Amino acid sequence: MRNQSHKMTVSIDEHTSHLEQLRAFFDQLDEEGKTIEKLPRELREQYQLKAINLTLEHIWNHNEFYRSALEEAGFKQPSIDNLGQLASVPLLNKDVIRGDKLKLLCVEPKEIGQVHLTSGTSGKPIYTSYTLADQYIYDLLPKYLELFPESDSDITAIALPYEFALPGLGFQRLFQFAFGTAILSLGKGGYMAPIDKSLELMKEFQATVLVTTPSYAALLAEESERFGIVIGRDISLRRILLTGEGCSNTFRNRLEKWWGCEVSFFYGSTECGVIAVECKEHKGYHVMDGHVKVEIINSQTGAPLRYNDTGEIAVTTLLREGMPMVRYRSGDVGYLQKSQCSCGITMDVLHLRGRMENMLTLDGNEYSPFFLEHFLMEIPEVSLWYHFIVDKERLTIEAEPFRTALTDEQLAAKIRKHMLDHVGIDCNVEIKRSLPRTFGKATRIYMQ
Ligand SMILES: [Zn+2]
Repeated sequence: MRNQSHKMTVSIDEHTSHLEQLRAFFDQLDEEGKTIEKLPRELREQYQLKAINLTLEHIWNHNEFYRSALEEAGFKQPSIDNLGQLASVPLLNKDVIRGDKLKLLCVEPKEIGQVHLTSGTSGKPIYTSYTLADQYIYDLLPKYLELFPESDSDITAIALPYEFALPGLGFQRLFQFAFGTAILSLGKGGYMAPIDKSLELMKEFQATVLVTTPSYAALLAEESERFGIVIGRDISLRRILLTGEGCSNTFRNRLEKWWGCEVSFFYGSTECGVIAVECKEHKGYHVMDGHVKVEIINSQTGAPLRYNDTGEIAVTTLLREGMPMVRYRSGDVGYLQKSQCSCGITMDVLHLRGRMENMLTLDGNEYSPFFLEHFLMEIPEVSLWYHFIVDKERLTIEAEPFRTALTDEQLAAKIRKHMLDHVGIDCNVEIKRSLPRTFGKATRIYMQ
């Protein structure tokens, strides 16, 4: 018996977990040269049911909070007979776990290998604790070779925060350990990594993939001109993965044009890890069914919604021992579609509409900010920097001009007319010079 030992060696070589029972499923896929992406629906659902039941048993046996919630909901034993019954498992609200690092913990504290946290905008953080096995064994079991064609010949630049939250380190682990790419850890806004150095590093090592947020992809492109780095000549990316903020298709299209490469959306969270990612068709995000079960619920009643109905996204993690998230209410809005995608991937397609608190109510109607952004970004004379300010259900757009000879008055009139013609809303427009750039999450929505 070793008391003091290298934690990595102990945890990974001698690790046992309820999740070991899922290993055979993925081993067999590997053997057959398949991935979970194109499996017939029934087989994937069988896997998910098994994973959910293993998770329910694990939280029942190792966590008081989860157990009493299940008992209160009438569970005599921690299992369900089919995926439809997942709706009888209690939903998990952010507020319940905010500031409480132990509430959902299902292992001994000494088993924790990594802590991540989200600050959110409202007070106490949400702590998420992972075991090393969570991150370095089980999280890497499902492969998605269609969705992630990256390989050891790629150089991945990660321009996401490495502090506190999951993104930087999470993508680093995924791209290093699962895909075998080399990593350039640019970070985002750290004092060691000013933008010019980040661009220089991408140039020097000929980065082929960039993982970042929509606003930072825009900022890097913009700043490259200032530092004399020519995109397409000095930096030639194969693909950009966007995460963190969400954006519209037109915003994406403009980034694709600027960077000269494919730009794909990725959806994940610090609490739940990977959730969904776009395929090459770019018609929604395929849910990463190996890692999570995604449901759409009515945010008022908590009732499950059907395909194509918009509601709150609830996520159940399937491959976690440290701190499984079971029916976790994400606060994000979207809807699911049964996949009929021509890419051949059979995993459901998620359409993301944004954060619940960012939905805009104008003249009694609710709008997704991405929907409004889509139309604003259709105007080529508007830059990628803008604000939506809502005051008494009236929208004011602050926008910056982009490479245009139009006067401010002409541009404002053009924006006002475009939004009226295409969205049917009459808004105020103010043309601004130098809207603030940020290293943090771009704030574009202001409710007065
Ligand atoms: Zn697809």
